[in-house]
Amino acid sequence: MSASEGFRYVELQPVQDGDAWDPEALSKAIRAASLPPGGIPVRFADAKPVLQRHYGWRDPRGLLAYSKGSPYKDLAIVFDAGDSSSPINVAASKAFRCYGLDGKQGGSIDWGDVRGPCIIRREDVPSMTSFATGKMERMNFTYHPLITTQELVDTVLFFKTRDAHKVAIKRDSTRSLLDVPRDHPMFALLSRGQYVSTAGTRPLDKVMGKDARQCATCGKPNTIACSLKYCSMCKSAWYCGRDCQKKDFPRHKTECASLAQEQQQQTAKAAGAAGAAGKTAA
Ligand SMILES: [Zn+2]
Ligand SMILES: [Zn+2]
Repeated sequence: MSASEGFRYVELQPVQDGDAWDPEALSKAIRAASLPPGGIPVRFADAKPVLQRHYGWRDPRGLLAYSKGSPYKDLAIVFDAGDSSSPINVAASKAFRCYGLDGKQGGSIDWGDVRGPCIIRREDVPSMTSFATGKMERMNFTYHPLITTQELVDTVLFFKTRDAHKVAIKRDSTRSLLDVPRDHPMFALLSRGQYVSTAGTRPLDKVMGKDARQCATCGKPNTIACSLKYCSMCKSAWYCGRDCQKKDFPRHKTECASLAQEQQQQTAKAAGAAGAAGKTAA
């Protein structure tokens, strides 16, 4: 298996403070993990004794995190929480700061820094109770078992400037409301409310509004694209980038003018309503 194809288990070594965000230094710190015979059990509780035995870790613990472009928490990380002397793994401590130890949600994040190396594996696609069928169903996401060096470097750099916990709650909320129809009465009741999960809360109008927008071409949600941009003519079609906007143009040009007109009427209506409200108040 070559490095460009990726690894099933990746080790991320600590990179010294100043170099922690240097792509080249990071690449050098990423390698295939040397595994215990029989591998590392998937469940944190089962992995613990194996990690203790094989690596001599004192208090092996797990973390769950998001890779840069993932719609579900796709990274499972193990490290030695009992290590107090190895260098701080600056990149891991920032990028994987989504939830508590062993993926625990709720309460505060109960760990300080990752010290020494950590080992990362891709989690399987989760199942959720489908709003449409009421049954537990595997979500419709692609599973990429291998993690490449480039992907891990991109992920670390993505989280350099972001709060991983906030990103996690955004993506959690987008995913949980994915198959709920937007005209469902539940939204009318909750539109002033909060999306509440054990991991945290988020204003529901954001979850349903900005966060729920998707690129018209590739379907990437705003929570992952981070800043979808709209077509400047109609302000109705959203895109993750120029390429996607260009690709959609043959289709979109047939609707753009009428969407623009609709948008204008709505803006005028909203301005009228605001004006009227102003007069009443005065
Ligand atoms: Zn796109
Ligand atoms: Zn348009």
